[in-house]
Amino acid sequence: MLAAMKRSPSLAVEKTLPEPDAPEPATVRRLQPVAPPLPAPTPALSIVAPCYNEAETLEAFTGRMLDAAQAACGDDFELILVNDGSRDATWAMIQAKALSSSNVVGVNLARNHGHQLAVTAGLSLARGARVMIIDADLQDPPELLGEMIRRMDEGFDVVYGKRRARAKESRFKLATAGIFYRMLGAIAEVDIPHDTGDFRLMSRRIVERLNAMPEQDRFLRGMVAWLGGKQTELLYDRDARHAGATGYTLSKMVRLALDGLTSFSTAPLRLAGLLSGLGVLVAFGLAIYAVASFVTGRTTPGWTSLALIVVFFSTAQLLCMAIFGEYLGRVYMQGKQRPLYLVDEIVAFAPSDPAAPAPGLGRDQT
Ligand code: UDP
Ligand code: MG
Repeated sequence: MLAAMKRSPSLAVEKTLPEPDAPEPATVRRLQPVAPPLPAPTPALSIVAPCYNEAETLEAFTGRMLDAAQAACGDDFELILVNDGSRDATWAMIQAKALSSSNVVGVNLARNHGHQLAVTAGLSLARGARVMIIDADLQDPPELLGEMIRRMDEGFDVVYGKRRARAKESRFKLATAGIFYRMLGAIAEVDIPHDTGDFRLMSRRIVERLNAMPEQDRFLRGMVAWLGGKQTELLYDRDARHAGATGYTLSKMVRLALDGLTSFSTAPLRLAGLLSGLGVLVAFGLAIYAVASFVTGRTTPGWTSLALIVVFFSTAQLLCMAIFGEYLGRVYMQGKQRPLYLVDEIVAFAPSDPAAPAPGLGRDQT
């Protein structure tokens, strides 16, 4: 699978290149064709943290995260830092961390793929019996790891963080998030918990199932909810960003919201049907009115009402077409079956005994 690999006694820098003529059975679906397998060890815990322009925060984050992980499981964990095409020194810092600590694995994506795909890349490489997802900007407190593990020990598959307070988040963000979760709750086919992000601890089997879901438009918190099993919430206060600015631009937020709404409901498509039903009723009423006016000799001189009607119906039609477009676009992109993300480089300590690749990691999924 790996075409090129540099090794020194204590570390390995693995470069991924497409495999030339690998035979592939017709039934195999390649979910992460470009994510190479990491060697075998299965730590008790993997932590996946997506990083986009987090140079100012990374030092503080890795410090607190490593402390929390050590307190919870000694040395038996890996911290996977996924650099999502940062334009600052984030990748250089991650590389340095990965080369100096055997617990840190650095993954460099080929470009900015967005938060959800950066997490997806990390999850496909995570080898732990349990996997935690956490933002790298310290809005999610790493110290909650211990509490999450305790809750999971009670027999849960997923412990997700639910935000009690969101310190210093803009009114705009809080208002739009509120509207989004309400809409999602009203139309989604599964119950997706409100006020949650992707901050969570998941069991290995949930991660395996998540990795096997081939959809391109990934709304991870919804996908995990869809997987079911025993899930519970852990209330927490979301802190302010440690430093730097949010990587979620308005367009990324809108995209995530649309992914959430369209991935878990076809209700918007039915809205098109409802609107056209309403349109037919209004048109029918108008026709009766027009005939009655003609018979009684009262003709309507105004064209304003006519114009209004034309505008109303053409807007409704455009809205319906836009809804179709949202779904059709997703079907089109899914049809291409492109890889979800492209890993450029993985930096980690070389194991003393480079054993066989861990099962199911970064390999073809059926
Ligand atoms: N992030 C990412 N790719 C992006 C945007 C963000 O990997 O394109 C990471 C970012 O570094 C952080 C997490 O995803 O660790 C959440 O992003 P951010 O804090 O910018 O979003 P917000 O908390 O403002 O919603
Ligand atoms: Mg943040």
